[in-house]
Amino acid sequence: MGTKRIRENRRNFFKSTIALIGGVITYSLIKPIEVFAQAKEEESKEDTSNLPLWGMGVDIESCVGCGKCVEACKIENNVPKEPFYFRTWVEQYTVKNDGEVKIESPNGGIGGLKQSVPSKDIFKSFMVPKLCNHCSEAPCVQACPVGATFISPDGVVLVDESYCIGCSYCIQACPYGARFMNPFTKVADKCTFCYHRITKGLDPACVEVCPTDARIFGDLRDKKSDLVKFLQKNQTQLLKPHLNTHSRVFYHGISSEVK
Ligand code: SF4
Ligand code: SF4
Repeated sequence: MGTKRIRENRRNFFKSTIALIGGVITYSLIKPIEVFAQAKEEESKEDTSNLPLWGMGVDIESCVGCGKCVEACKIENNVPKEPFYFRTWVEQYTVKNDGEVKIESPNGGIGGLKQSVPSKDIFKSFMVPKLCNHCSEAPCVQACPVGATFISPDGVVLVDESYCIGCSYCIQACPYGARFMNPFTKVADKCTFCYHRITKGLDPACVEVCPTDARIFGDLRDKKSDLVKFLQKNQTQLLKPHLNTHSRVFYHGISSEVK
């Protein structure tokens, strides 16, 4: 299903919701938020089993911290140039022999991060690419008061800019720091798995440019997809699994220091 179709569906959904609000307003004290919740529940009853269910794998052992993915994402998605806005970024972890953990991500990793070599002081060093985890139990979706943030039928967490009121509740609710307020559009911004590309059969830009195949994208319902093969071959973990966000970004080679 394309973005246009989703937007149309959502427009229809909101039109009918507004009509519904108009209908009930004189008869009861039902709150708009409850109407939204009801309508969304109806929407979620749609059978989506014939659609893809998109996800991503991240292989920590393969990431060399070159930052090409971050750069490609910025260009592809017109992410503001200022160094503090990212839809994806790479963190460098340095674990010292005394147990101290240093996490750095200068310019999100653009230009490349320098891996520290184990030494008298340094126990290990590794890179962790981060992005929106496309949680299936997404705190950001739950926090949005106007239904602007939603999960597409093929499992991607998106923001409908025409409904976002810029309240920032979703940004505060995201436990992964994956959202920001776009200073130009004044709406919440985040990774879309390059929805405009994946719905045309292309990989997200970060996946396409990664020189070491550290990012693997695919359909979780397709046994032949690169992602399913990656998951079959490797042990993976979710970030912050105790939060039960049931995310769809699967990390291989992650260690206990990763937050
Ligand atoms: Fe929402 Fe954050 Fe989860 Fe992405 S990682 S779906 S922005 S809560
Ligand atoms: Fe790591 Fe690949 Fe991104 Fe380079 S492009 S930083 S190897 S994930």
